[in-house]
Amino acid sequence: MDYTNCYKTGYKPPFNYLLKSVFLHSTIKERVITQQNIMPTSDKKILFFSTQPYDRDFFTKQNEEWGFQIDFIESRLRQKTANLAQGADAVCAFVNDKPDATVMATLAAAGVKVLALRCAGFNNVDLEAAKQNGIKVCRVPAYSPHAVAEHSVAMILTLNRKTHKAYNRVREQNFSLNGLLGFDLYQKTVGVVGTGNIGKVFAEIMTGFGCKVLAYDLVKDVELEKKGIEYVSLDTILEQSDIISLHCPLNDKTKHLVNESTISKMKKGVMLINTSRGGLIDTNMVIEGLKSKKIGYLGIDVYEQEEHLFFRDLSASIIEDDTIQRLMSFPNVLVTAHQAFFTEEALYQITKTTFQSIDEILSGKPISQPGVMLVP
Ligand code: NAD
Repeated sequence: MDYTNCYKTGYKPPFNYLLKSVFLHSTIKERVITQQNIMPTSDKKILFFSTQPYDRDFFTKQNEEWGFQIDFIESRLRQKTANLAQGADAVCAFVNDKPDATVMATLAAAGVKVLALRCAGFNNVDLEAAKQNGIKVCRVPAYSPHAVAEHSVAMILTLNRKTHKAYNRVREQNFSLNGLLGFDLYQKTVGVVGTGNIGKVFAEIMTGFGCKVLAYDLVKDVELEKKGIEYVSLDTILEQSDIISLHCPLNDKTKHLVNESTISKMKKGVMLINTSRGGLIDTNMVIEGLKSKKIGYLGIDVYEQEEHLFFRDLSASIIEDDTIQRLMSFPNVLVTAHQAFFTEEALYQITKTTFQSIDEILSGKPISQPGVMLVP
């Protein structure tokens, strides 16, 4: 085998396990990492795409209970890499993978029966193509809504009280407060767009700060209403909110929900938080809103073009995406790289649900968790 141009991951196994690497010849050079701490007890094979060290740690550890034959690769699932799934019963993909019609056909030809998304959102998946190719698709509908809701709150507090700037300032012995002025969250109006698993937890947290919480969703949550959260129209949210946080899925109806027209209806100086999906906001229009000071603060954990940037260390690279560079140049913009889900509890639950769903689908058992199956 040719090891000369191999892709070096720099990965060090945290457990004292056997680490075996296999280099597959393909249109791309890709290292398949087999990190087994047990002898597999199942003849079922799962190939994980877009893996980072933490994915491999969690899945390897929990596989002690399942005994699947598991392999990991770092590349995203896309047309160039789909053929690596040859011989796998299931593939596991993440938010920036591109399982389109071509990929689905390749996976089906490779014998793959299940596409398991280790995330809640599925806007990136061609479900119709999966159906046509006989591939079942499952996801993790709810793992830790608290993880994402709490990260949204972290973004609000950071943007407001500027703790990220204070941290750096004090380390340089600059004890001045100039430029760090914030505002009380108490009695401010917070608009929540989408009150499903995450939006509901977020709304509840914000009531704890003494905020007035307004909600907009296609379906009302009676429990939230009982807690004093008022459902209003989207326009009312836009017109009255000091802080707007997006928690609805990305689909044809919600794409660019934040656009020139909706921004024009917002309060001057509004704080906009998006931990849902990048496509919910028209980034160029948001930049115009920041320049005109209509938008006073922006916190985003997701970005429309994030697939070219996020989950990678590009600190020594030239970033060609001028839009993200412009965004990051504003002092009142906070960007995190799709880390809202990233808590121990969430990763544990993602791993557990993924293995359980794959096991249930491959062995023809009833699916135990509601909302898992996207293509049954
Ligand atoms: P969910 O399905 O439980 O809730 C979504 C809510 O949005 C539902 O109540 C639904 O009725 C509502 N909705 C749908 N269309 C709407 C519309 N046009 N206008 C207003 N509301 C609408 O989903 P969730 O688990 O709360 O997740 C929300 C989103 O968060 C996901 O779709 C995903 O994109 C994103 N997410 C991000 C991260 C992260 O790490 N940043 C992690 C998990 C989920």
